[in-house]
Amino acid sequence: MLLIFFSSSKLLARARRSCSKCVTCEKCHETFTYCMSREAFGEDKSVFSNTREVAWRKAEQNAEEIVQRMLQEESDPIPCPSCGWVQEEMIRSVRRRSYTGLKNLGNAFLLFIAGVFALTVLYLFLLVFSYKWENNALYGACEFVGVCTAILGTPYLLLWLLRWGLNSLYNPNTKFVGQNSESHPHQK
Ligand SMILES: [Zn+2]
Repeated sequence: MLLIFFSSSKLLARARRSCSKCVTCEKCHETFTYCMSREAFGEDKSVFSNTREVAWRKAEQNAEEIVQRMLQEESDPIPCPSCGWVQEEMIRSVRRRSYTGLKNLGNAFLLFIAGVFALTVLYLFLLVFSYKWENNALYGACEFVGVCTAILGTPYLLLWLLRWGLNSLYNPNTKFVGQNSESHPHQK
C-alpha cells in the first residue's frame, strides 16, 4: 500500500510492504518461514521538482527503496518453531536497530572531530599561503587536534560502550534449553 500526504507542507510518501522470509535454523537445521512487514517514509530529496506530481513520484520511489532495503537487510526475532532458538542474525538485526539515538549522538561527536581536523588543515593552508608559517605551527596544530579529539572522543567512546552494554542485555536465547523445548524464548 502506498499513501501520499503532506506533513507540515513537506511531501511524504509512505510505503508498507511485507515479505516471506525463509530461515534454516543454525541449531537444529530445520527450515521455517515467517512473514515480515515494514513501513517506510520517503521524500523528494532532489533540489527541484517541476511539478507536485514529479515530487510525489520521487517521494514514492524513495519510500519504496527504503522499505525494500529494510525487508532485505532486517530480520524479526522469530524463534525456530522446532527448537525455540532465535538465530544470531535476527539478534544482530534487532541490536542494529536499537538505541539509535545513542548511536546518532555518538556520531555527532565524530563529526565534530572531523570538523576540527578540517578547520585545522584549512588554518595551516592559510598560514602557508599568507607567508605566516612558523616552525612550531604544525606541532601546535597537532597538539590542538589531539586535545580536541580526546575531549570529543571520550563522550563518543562512552556512548558507544553504553549502547554496546544495553544491546548485550538483549539476548532471547538466554532461556534456550534445547531441542523441542516447551518454553520458547521470549519474542520481541
Ligand atoms: Zn531450530
